[in-house]
Amino acid sequence: MISLLRKRPSVLAGVLLVAVASALAAAQTESHVDRASGTTVVDSRIATALQQVSPDRIRANIEKLVSFGTRSTISAQDSGAIQAGRGVGAARQWIQSEFKRYSRDCGGCLDVKTDSFTQPTADRIPRPTEITNVYAVLKGSDAENAKRIVLVTGHYDSRNSDISDVKGDAPGANDDGSGTAVSLECARVLSKLKFPATIIFLSVAGEEQGLNGSDHFAKMAKEQRWDIEAVLNNDIVGGDKSPDQDHSVVRVFSEGLPAAATEQEIRRIRGLGGENDSASRQLARYIADVGHAYDPGVKPMLVFRLDRYLRGGDHYSFNQQGFAAVRFTEFREDFHHQHQNVRTENGIEYGDLAKFVDFDYVAHVARLNAATLASLASAPAPPANVHLLAKDLENDSTLTWESSPGGLATAYEVLWRATTSPEWEHAEKVGNVNRATLKLSKDNVIFSVRAVDAQGHRSLPVVPVPQR
Ligand SMILES: [Zn+2]
Repeated sequence: MISLLRKRPSVLAGVLLVAVASALAAAQTESHVDRASGTTVVDSRIATALQQVSPDRIRANIEKLVSFGTRSTISAQDSGAIQAGRGVGAARQWIQSEFKRYSRDCGGCLDVKTDSFTQPTADRIPRPTEITNVYAVLKGSDAENAKRIVLVTGHYDSRNSDISDVKGDAPGANDDGSGTAVSLECARVLSKLKFPATIIFLSVAGEEQGLNGSDHFAKMAKEQRWDIEAVLNNDIVGGDKSPDQDHSVVRVFSEGLPAAATEQEIRRIRGLGGENDSASRQLARYIADVGHAYDPGVKPMLVFRLDRYLRGGDHYSFNQQGFAAVRFTEFREDFHHQHQNVRTENGIEYGDLAKFVDFDYVAHVARLNAATLASLASAPAPPANVHLLAKDLENDSTLTWESSPGGLATAYEVLWRATTSPEWEHAEKVGNVNRATLKLSKDNVIFSVRAVDAQGHRSLPVVPVPQR
């Protein structure tokens, strides 16, 4: 019988033969890293900040969110309801006050804002409804790099069995009190540090009614030409205590073909075999690297799919506007504990209650998010206009790029992997240059280029487009 399992082709075995542009040849063995995903440098400032993430604070915040009874987007938000502490308006006011409190603790370092709009009547919106997103901006400390934004979000609205029930309890501890708590805790901990780029801590509403809040926010960002490099959406990261839960893993979903790709871009992706290299997927790989380096207590499990099967979330609103965005979700959802009225039937407890949430797990996910935000906000901008020269047929590969905007980069690295590999396998430091030639065929591997600063912070990698 012929074995269908063949040994891997040896394209990548010859790593020592790799030569970069001539001036760098001397340093080539030292500069080459065999496992690209092990190269994230731990920044002790970031590692110390991660220790401040508190399961107790997360617990208090989730319990506070549950205490508003319902946070249905279409529930009451008049001043009476806000005073009484029930409904989506009271929840929103509290989130805002919490961000403001963190800001007071850092000398006013956070700019706390709202994005309010009237959502017209729609499928799950019975009458025109005011929807308010709440966010806090930690502005970058470097004038040029402050334009660059990394963002973390969760949705603070909730629902029960009936999407149009505005009165009944909808505790939403896991969905998505957990994600809201991640945004809040990242804001509390990271606001004690300064980063060259800007971090936005966002909490949106309207998710359950149709991604309304995130849709509005992402469109605003696109219209105002915000330079958002990464969006981390946390939705159902409570680590529900069901027996088959894996508390060591968090799923990270990322789109393959970009939702915002034009017909021309889709044709190019098809021609290059680029289906696995969207900007969102580079972000997912970056998160995997950060997970290796900082060991936040939970391991990112990359899922190469937009979201769970046939389901969706707020990151999709950002994908549609052309931003890199991923979704974090616990390993195994318990459907008795989400979108359910609180009740017991045949001995089964239904409802999204705080007692089913594992607060240590949420803290681990918050650490992974905070480490990713801090790493990206510390890093140089990705290199611009990355090209792979394709004018002549040749077996070497020459890449060119423009310097990382913002002046933080002191070097560049070319990464590559086999076309069948999920994560970057090799990294070659090529110095502070704008061109590198590798003795590897572009037919056989996928390349990217990233920028590195003097402390070793890495940008997101950029996959080249061909230049004829
Ligand atoms: Zn949700």
